[in-house]
Amino acid sequence: MDPKIQAHANLLDLIGNTPLVHLGNIAADYPGEYYAKLESFNPGHSAKDRIAAYIIEAAEKKGILKPGSTIIETTSGNTGFSLAMVSIIKGYNCILAVSSKSSKDKIDMLRTMGARVYVCPAHVSADDPRSYYEVAKRLHRETPDSVYINQYFNALNSEAHYATTGPEIWKQTGGQITHLVACSGTGGTISGTARFLKEQNPDIQVLGVDAYGSVLKKYHETGELDRDEIYPYRIEGLGKNLIPEATDFNLIDKFIKVTDEASARMAREICKTEGIFAGYTSGAVMQAVKQYKEAGTFNPDSRVVVIFPDHGSRYMSKIYSDQWMQDQGFDEALEGEEKVEQVE
Ligand code: PMP
Repeated sequence: MDPKIQAHANLLDLIGNTPLVHLGNIAADYPGEYYAKLESFNPGHSAKDRIAAYIIEAAEKKGILKPGSTIIETTSGNTGFSLAMVSIIKGYNCILAVSSKSSKDKIDMLRTMGARVYVCPAHVSADDPRSYYEVAKRLHRETPDSVYINQYFNALNSEAHYATTGPEIWKQTGGQITHLVACSGTGGTISGTARFLKEQNPDIQVLGVDAYGSVLKKYHETGELDRDEIYPYRIEGLGKNLIPEATDFNLIDKFIKVTDEASARMAREICKTEGIFAGYTSGAVMQAVKQYKEAGTFNPDSRVVVIFPDHGSRYMSKIYSDQWMQDQGFDEALEGEEKVEQVE
């Protein structure tokens, strides 16, 4: 690279240091001030770039990875995309074992990003040798110099956010933050960020967001996994049907649950009011802010940071399709359609 040219060596330089943006419209009537941390500004368009780079670099330091080694994970979501991106840049193979429920668009996207994708039957139990968990474990055993990322059970997941997201928010708010509101899936984002922020100021309130159909909120309150809490839901990346070891429940002050419909509508509302083309869980976290506000959580001195995990472009055939919204029964008059005018 010519040293006179102001270029980044590659996309890895652009991971993290995402912007914090004041929400001047959608929360204008709420007490206090509200700021969104836009994780879609990462080069792979989600917060998962942070853990992909951090976990792979940790494995390099331990000497596990060499050029041509293999990264393995079980996801068709944002983590898969970020791992594929980092693997290409660093010269590793990337294998993703995904469920047959994954959309063709997602599988095509991962293949385009150079990953080898194993599509595993969705209807089998987790311990069946054909399940995506077992396929990933087998490939890890059979592939020399491979790393199984295992984001739900890997402590490096939250460490990545302790090392980056937490310090960024502390610096960007000049230490004024009073509340962090974040989604919990693996729990890496909320746990790592919370740990850093509470070390700076233990009074900061950490407010989690969970989905109806997931066990996290109940587990936080009772310490028990209640299977009656589990049923299918639409929001991807939020909540879970098991207890992820990557989550530190002691650092989370409270959880609130949000519905598929309210979260989808709120994501559309963020687009219309702030011009931020937000992902589905950004709608979920903003819906949670609304519910926390209605419960009297905030006051005029509150300085609330909400994490928007990814970009709206990944949801074109879901929450940003009027047809999909209607198919889900979220069919109360949707705005938008009438804004398309056909010129003959
Ligand atoms: N939103 C989206 C879109 C995600 O993919 C994830 C990750 N599963 C989350 C939120 C939650 O982040 P975390 O796994 O760090 O709890």
